[in-house]
Amino acid sequence: MIIAVDGPTASGKGTIAKALAAHFGLPHLDTGLLYRAVGRQVALLGGNPDDPADALAACAFADALLDDEALRSEESGSLASRVSVHPAVRQALYERQRAFALQPGGAVLDGRDIGTVIAPDADVKLFVTASVAERARRRWLEMQARGLEVERAAMERDITARDARDMGRKDAPLVAAADALTLDTSAFNREEAIEAAIEAVESKLR
Ligand code: C5P
Repeated sequence: MIIAVDGPTASGKGTIAKALAAHFGLPHLDTGLLYRAVGRQVALLGGNPDDPADALAACAFADALLDDEALRSEESGSLASRVSVHPAVRQALYERQRAFALQPGGAVLDGRDIGTVIAPDADVKLFVTASVAERARRRWLEMQARGLEVERAAMERDITARDARDMGRKDAPLVAAADALTLDTSAFNREEAIEAAIEAVESKLR
């Protein structure tokens, strides 16, 4: 069983994907982490994330980089969003994601183009979303919990810019697959969002 979970930044898709993986006993891949690693590697190499050749060279990052705490920063998210517009980068990361999706027994993958490009054959596709204000609030609380002072308005601006870049790119833009179930988590807390997602998957499988 392949479960595809897509959605914009801070929509709750990562939390939901992890919870679905635990509930259904499936392995989980956070594909955003791969793009974050590429973004971080470009920075480490002193390259330009907007340059396709620099970004492609960074796709050969060492797997240990995936455990780097720095990948969780807003800066890494923003770099990821910039390198992810290059078709060569998306192509370089395709096989790894596709192989994960096709492993025996199935898998849960979350990202932006899982239901449309990586696993168009997924058994269940969820498109998780929430309002910009609510996503900015969640990201801000997360940053505060980690002791990072960020301005809430700056957070909203960053999320809006990231949405525009992810939805506006030519190759594999962020869009709900035609056969995806949309889950708006704006009014849900963590537990309610997870419960709604499990219910959505179970109803799709029935
Ligand atoms: O999900 P996360 O915020 O970690 O993703 C970081 C960035 O990586 C996104 O803003 C998006 O530009 C890119 N990404 C992507 N395709 C994916 C996952 C992430 O383009 N499947």
